[in-house]
Amino acid sequence: MQNKGYKIIDFNKKADIYIINTCTVTNISDKKSRQIIRRAKQNNPNSIVIAVGCYAQVAKEKLEAIKEIDLVLGNNEKKDIDNYIEKYKGEHTYTHLEDVMMQKEFVDFGSTTHIDKTRAVIKIQDGCDRFCSYCIIPYARGRVRSRTIENTIEEIKMLAKKGIKEVVITGIHIASYGKDFKEKIELIDLLEQINKIDGIERIRLGSLEPTIITKEFLNRLTKLKKICHHFHLSLQSACNSTLERMNRKYTIEDFKNVVDLLRNTYKDVILTTDIIVGFPGETEEEFSITYNNLKQINFYKMHVFQYSRREGTKADKMLNQVSSQIKAQRSKKLIALSNENQKKYNSKMLGKIVDVLFEEEDKDAIKGHTQNYIIVKVKKENINEYHNQIKKVIITQIEEDELVGKLIM
Ligand code: SF4
Repeated sequence: MQNKGYKIIDFNKKADIYIINTCTVTNISDKKSRQIIRRAKQNNPNSIVIAVGCYAQVAKEKLEAIKEIDLVLGNNEKKDIDNYIEKYKGEHTYTHLEDVMMQKEFVDFGSTTHIDKTRAVIKIQDGCDRFCSYCIIPYARGRVRSRTIENTIEEIKMLAKKGIKEVVITGIHIASYGKDFKEKIELIDLLEQINKIDGIERIRLGSLEPTIITKEFLNRLTKLKKICHHFHLSLQSACNSTLERMNRKYTIEDFKNVVDLLRNTYKDVILTTDIIVGFPGETEEEFSITYNNLKQINFYKMHVFQYSRREGTKADKMLNQVSSQIKAQRSKKLIALSNENQKKYNSKMLGKIVDVLFEEEDKDAIKGHTQNYIIVKVKKENINEYHNQIKKVIITQIEEDELVGKLIM
């Protein structure tokens, strides 16, 4: 749109067009999307307000009923917003939505990648066929569609030429990569190709479903020297009966086997995860099973979410919804456990030498990540211009839970 002469201005200013990329992951996200839509029209009552994205995709009628909205577009229509604006004749409300469930091919928006500080986040697939009972994503994003190896490699080569050293491989469910192709192509095939690209020094995997980690997968993965030894395995609950109600396809025993496989393969591996507390029907006993298993697994960091209802999902209709007070208590307990784990791990890092890719500077330090995703800070008096460079650092102290080190020249 910028190439066609559109100018991006601050959301709070008076714009001719407002594009709201809506989220629908919980009922609260829907509410926030509606609030922002209303705010946009208040900023300029004569503007065209466009709702795109996941909420628009799953709740077209609801959005059409909002008088502040002029145009409703789905996920696939995002790439043609400028064309829809040109066609728009001021009618209330003009909707264009393809049935995303029928979408068979990966839609490349031309810029599916974004640069997060120094690393490039590469989207390799869209959609999900898993239908976890709490999740609306399969309805909003449709079935699994994968980006071709050729197209992905071409883009990463271009990024490497621009100086990008680290790529993060993401999607809605990257473990499903390739299942929509006619030929047998899997995530590991793509990773092997990325590993060959000159200039790329680190390949980081986004959130992974644990079931993809098998001995065979790891046999091939360990040959790829650029793979970061950091795995974010989405666990969601560490109690089998809760996992079953969530419609997750593994047991806690399967998960622990995966953890053992990874820890036996990579000595410096860091494991992180997502956990939902207060899922419908989660009793004290179930939570305590989860807590004890999590303590045993000892993740470096856990992202803890309080279950949030989402209309249109199975979990929303389940009996025994958990009160917000109990959810908050459980969340607090798990966050405390996560902080404790991280502190313990960090204290063992003192005196160790690590490779850090420097990403951001503030007034007195430059920060970056190790390959296994620990943040390291180096005070500025020790450095010159190390942005986007990988350097060896010795960890000398811990300051407010952050590792601080000195460059080794
Ligand atoms: S695997 Fe992830 S995206 Fe797919 S349904 Fe489950 S939670 Fe949603």
